[in-house]
Amino acid sequence: MKIQNRIALIFTILTAGIILALSVFIYTFTRKGIENSFFHRLEVRADIVGHASLHENKSQTSIYYDIKEKHLGDLPYEQHNIIRSGEVEKVNQLKAQLPVPPSFYDQIVRKEPARYFENDTSYVGLNITQEGKNLIVISKAVDLYGLEEMDNLKNLMVIGFFIAMIFVFTFGKLFSNQIFEPIRRIIRNVKGINAHNLNQRLTIDGTKDEIDALSNTFNDMLDRLEITFDMQNNFVSNASHEFRTPLTVISGEAQIGLSLPQIPEEARESFQMIFREAEKLEHLTSSMLSLAQTGFDGKREQWDKIRIDELILSVKSAIDQILPTNSVEINFDDLPDDEKKLEVNGNEALLKAAFTNIVLNSCKYSDNKPVSVKIGNEGSNIVVEVTDQGIGIPDREIAQIFVPFFRASNTNKYKGYGIGLPLTNNIIKMHQGSIMVKSVVGVGTRFITYLPFGY
Ligand code: ADP
Repeated sequence: MKIQNRIALIFTILTAGIILALSVFIYTFTRKGIENSFFHRLEVRADIVGHASLHENKSQTSIYYDIKEKHLGDLPYEQHNIIRSGEVEKVNQLKAQLPVPPSFYDQIVRKEPARYFENDTSYVGLNITQEGKNLIVISKAVDLYGLEEMDNLKNLMVIGFFIAMIFVFTFGKLFSNQIFEPIRRIIRNVKGINAHNLNQRLTIDGTKDEIDALSNTFNDMLDRLEITFDMQNNFVSNASHEFRTPLTVISGEAQIGLSLPQIPEEARESFQMIFREAEKLEHLTSSMLSLAQTGFDGKREQWDKIRIDELILSVKSAIDQILPTNSVEINFDDLPDDEKKLEVNGNEALLKAAFTNIVLNSCKYSDNKPVSVKIGNEGSNIVVEVTDQGIGIPDREIAQIFVPFFRASNTNKYKGYGIGLPLTNNIIKMHQGSIMVKSVVGVGTRFITYLPFGY
């Protein structure tokens, strides 16, 4: 998950926690308040009923009931139970009827406030003594208005909670999006910097914040990289150039030696050996020079529209000359009808060198067994698949075959320097393409090259 989304989510969860805790707090206290005020109202009524019952004088009793009727009114489901001293039977009956716990009765006996709430019903108990007479009133009623109020509060809180969450998440996302915009800008800029434009630098806003510090650090690193790349590039180019002239002289002199009449057989063999090795070294230095150039400068000025099918045909004829015994077959079955889907923007000489390397390797590492070259299409890419039935590449070494001078452990019997594939890889990358390798030791290898269409 992106940090940006993670921040929005954490922000939302935290706020949800706080709102929930606050809602529970408000709900509990409001409920307690409403419950207490209802208990109090019920107790006032119980007290009046109790006192009215204490009087044997009928007119006194009706005065109490009048007051209750006129000034207090009835509560929903209001019910009063009067227990006079000695009415043991009635106590037992009530105990069986009412759901109140035994502690409720103990509190009445101790003349403490006895209050109980269950199933939306409130129960109160009073122990009244007046003029030597004593009785107990146990009253119950339902606070319909209070329950409705609590229900409304609950609904309000639930709806409010969800609306708040939507707002918090939306604003959290917008906020984190804004915070991360400078980082995304840096990522975009850094992605655009490669070996070909190492002189580019990130823009510094001058805000002296962490983002500016990060951009500065990147720029410092790019400075160091540019210097190192330049040094390496110059060294490889200069060294290759410097090697070329003496090598040409050596092979020229060896050829002269070979052309001398009547030279002893041993000297002839020595000249031949010098000539062959000098040629190898020449090939190696020019490959290294190409590798350095494709890796650092590129040759963009020579770019054209190139048809891949024609290029592969020219690769085949080049291979026919170098290796007349090859069994390379070109498969045009999947060729797209639209010619535009066969064109790439690129440098013909470099692309030819790249595909020649891949196909020559396939011939070399399969001892000239059949090699198939298939041209097709996939998405916005031209795909060239080169498949051989050769020695294959050990699984754990596949990742390294594009590293300069790397040679797999099963190649002792074959000559090579480990420069061809790194060069090929650089060329394909210069053309915004990529290479995929599938290989099974003893069965064969498939190189799949993807190059984007040139329009
Ligand atoms: P080399 O001169 O050794 O052929 P490359 O750079 O062309 O150098 O290839 C690097 C390594 O990749 C080779 O040494 C070999 O181990 C492996 N390789 C390349 N192509 C094939 C192939 N078609 N079959 C098996 N191994 C291959």
